[in-house]
Amino acid sequence: MSMTATKSATTVHRPLEGRVAIVTGSTSGIGLGIAESLAEQGATLVLNGFGDPAEIERTRQTLATLNGVAVHYSPADLSMPDKICEMIAFARDVAGPIDILVNNAGIQHVAPIGEFPTAKWDAILAVNLSSAFHAIKAVLPQMAERGYGRIINVASAHGLVASPFKSAYVAAKHGVIGLTKTVALESARTGVTCNAICPGYVWTPLVEKQIADQARAHNMTEEKVITDVLLTSQPNRRFASVEEIGALASFLCGPGGASITGASLTVDGGWTAQ
Ligand code: NAD
Repeated sequence: MSMTATKSATTVHRPLEGRVAIVTGSTSGIGLGIAESLAEQGATLVLNGFGDPAEIERTRQTLATLNGVAVHYSPADLSMPDKICEMIAFARDVAGPIDILVNNAGIQHVAPIGEFPTAKWDAILAVNLSSAFHAIKAVLPQMAERGYGRIINVASAHGLVASPFKSAYVAAKHGVIGLTKTVALESARTGVTCNAICPGYVWTPLVEKQIADQARAHNMTEEKVITDVLLTSQPNRRFASVEEIGALASFLCGPGGASITGASLTVDGGWTAQ
């Protein structure tokens, strides 16, 4: 085969062709960025998350058409363990055995601990931490049996270091990293890897909302929150993009990720190097 023929064959090869991926919280932000990247690599997708049904349907169709892959959607509320099991069962029914699970759905609330609403604590722990446990529990035995699996937990720089006013979020994200390491060790000989991606600030609707909340908590303007609160933690002084997170997730799912497990991979512009 000529060099040109080999090169063009390499270009069209999609490493995740035939793989089935669930990405939680993929109607928006980082989850959508990861879903787009996995679909570009050829994966069949099950999307999940809240939002306007017509907009979600448009996203589903666009992803399918652009990438020539099947794309399904589950509206499961991940704060409810039985809905998580239903989502996994639905994914298996419509798409087949699950190869890739990305636990990405997350919520945030910013308030001093003395004023932190207990209901917000419970909700953040349920969506940001417990949902990953329930989903992993439902897919892991079958991944191990088939000898391949990729579990990616979207944690945060706040899984490694803390900031004030984010008690529930920081506790949940530290928990996600502990869960990641445990799953990696339990699965080490099975062909299943489990890693955490730890973004710093990424420009998404979650961050946009947080800017307003932080402005209230710190009694500052929103512009000041961006420059003096958020990006002061991030030495490269820029928001990461959802495409950057998607590219890392796809790498972890492909052949290059086979020996990476139990890792907390930072995409934080140097935040946690300080
Ligand atoms: P986002 O608000 O844009 O997206 C969150 C997604 O989760 C949405 O699809 C939403 O519908 C879904 N979701 C929320 N509650 C849900 C529930 N109960 N059931 C099902 N789906 C639910 O936020 P984002 O910034 O893209 O964040 C995604 C993940 O990345 C979160 O886990 C977040 O903690 C993490 N993260 C974000 C940043 C950042 O700067 N944006 C940084 C570090 C970590």
